[in-house]
Amino acid sequence: MPTVVVPDRLTSHVAAGHPWLYADAVPAVSGARTGDLVTLLGQGRRPIGQALFDADSPIALRVLTTRRGEAAGPELWRQRVEQALALRRGTLDLRSTDAFRLLHGEGDRLPGVVVDHYAGFLVLKLDTPAWLPHLGDLRDTLMEVMRPSGIYFKGISGEREAAAPHTLAGDEPPEHIPVREHGMRLLVDIRRGQKTGLFLDQRENRAVVRQVARGRRVLNLFSYTGGFSLAAALGGATHVTSVDLAKGAVEGARQNFIANDLDPAAHGFVAADAFDHLAACAASKQQFDLVIVDPPSFAPRKSALRAAEAAYTKLNAAAIRQVVPGGLVACASCSSHVPMDMFLKILRESARVARRALRILEIRQEPADHPTPLHFPEGRYLKFVLAVAE
Ligand code: SAH
Repeated sequence: MPTVVVPDRLTSHVAAGHPWLYADAVPAVSGARTGDLVTLLGQGRRPIGQALFDADSPIALRVLTTRRGEAAGPELWRQRVEQALALRRGTLDLRSTDAFRLLHGEGDRLPGVVVDHYAGFLVLKLDTPAWLPHLGDLRDTLMEVMRPSGIYFKGISGEREAAAPHTLAGDEPPEHIPVREHGMRLLVDIRRGQKTGLFLDQRENRAVVRQVARGRRVLNLFSYTGGFSLAAALGGATHVTSVDLAKGAVEGARQNFIANDLDPAAHGFVAADAFDHLAACAASKQQFDLVIVDPPSFAPRKSALRAAEAAYTKLNAAAIRQVVPGGLVACASCSSHVPMDMFLKILRESARVARRALRILEIRQEPADHPTPLHFPEGRYLKFVLAVAE
C-alpha cells in the first residue's frame, strides 16, 4: 500500500476525526492513483490510519479509519453500513418515515459516499471518482445489509463525464417512488430529480412548518417538488403558493398535492424566479402570514462568498417585507461556506434593510440522519431559522 507522511501539525486533527487532508497540506503521494488506499504515517513513520486517494481533487486524502487493527476494504464498508443503519433505526421514527439518508459520507465515516433510502430503493451518489474502483464492493455490501429492491447510481457530484447514472443492482427504479415522511406522501423521481430525488435534510424542518401553518396564507419560495408547501397545507394553511424556477419541479409539487388528497386548484403553483416573484408581490402589495425561503447554495465556492452574502441579504430582506406584521418567516441556507453565525448576521442585516425586527423562534440544522463529526465544522452546511417578523 502506498504511504504518505502526515505533517505533525495535522496528526491530532486526523486522530480527532477530521476526515480530510488537502493536497497542498501533505507531501505528494508517490506511486498512487485515484482510488488507491493509502497508509497514513505519523511521527517516526508510525501508521496512524488509512485513506482514499484522489489525484485530481484539492482534497487529496479522505480518511477511512484511524483505529488500530481496522483495515479499509469490503469488511469495513459493511461495518460502516451496519452502524449507519443501526443509528437510523435508533434515532428516526421509521414507522411514519421511509425516506432517509442511510449514509451521510464523512458523518458515517465513509467520506464521499452518500446513500439515500426511498421506500426500499437506494440511491448512491459519490463526491469523488476515488470510490469508483470500490463501487462493486459498496454495491454488494448494500445489497446484503439492506436487501433493497434496487440500487440506482446517481453519479459523481460536479462530474458529468466520469460516470453516468445507471441502475447498479436489482430492479430499475419506477418513474416515481411514493415515500412517506411523517405520514405525508411524496413522489420521488430519482432519475430526473435534483440531488438524489428529495431534500431529506429539511424533513424535520418541514415538520416544524406543518406545526405552525394553521390558518396562514403561505408563500414557499424555491419550493422544488413542494415539500414545505405540502407540510403547510396539511398543517392547515388556508392557501399555499409554491414558486420554483424549474417547471418540472412545480409540476411535481402539483402532483404531490394530488397524492395527498389536496385540491391543487385551491393553491398557487408558479414557475418563476423567486426574486422576480417577490418584486411582483411587493408591487401588488401582497403579503403572507408565513414566507419560506430555501434557496440553492449561493456560495458553491469560498471565492463566491462576498457575492453570496449580498444575494442572501437581498433575498431575505425582500421576503421579510412580504410578511404581515406578526407573521412568520422561515429562512434556510445550505451553503457549507456560510456557517450559522454568518447566516444570523445576514438575517440581522436583512431585517435592518427591510426595517422589521425579527424575533427568533427556532434555530435548526441537519437532522439525525445527516450526522457530522464534531471535528469537521465544514460538514455543517444547513441553517434553518424560524422567526416572527414584527
Ligand atoms: N425547499 C425544497 C428544496 C429547495 S432546493 C424542499 O424542501 O424540497 C432549491 C430549489 O430552488 C430548486 O428546486 C431550484 O430549481 C430552485 N431555484 C433555483 N434558482 C431559483 C430562482 N432564482 N428562483 C426560483 N427557484 C429557483
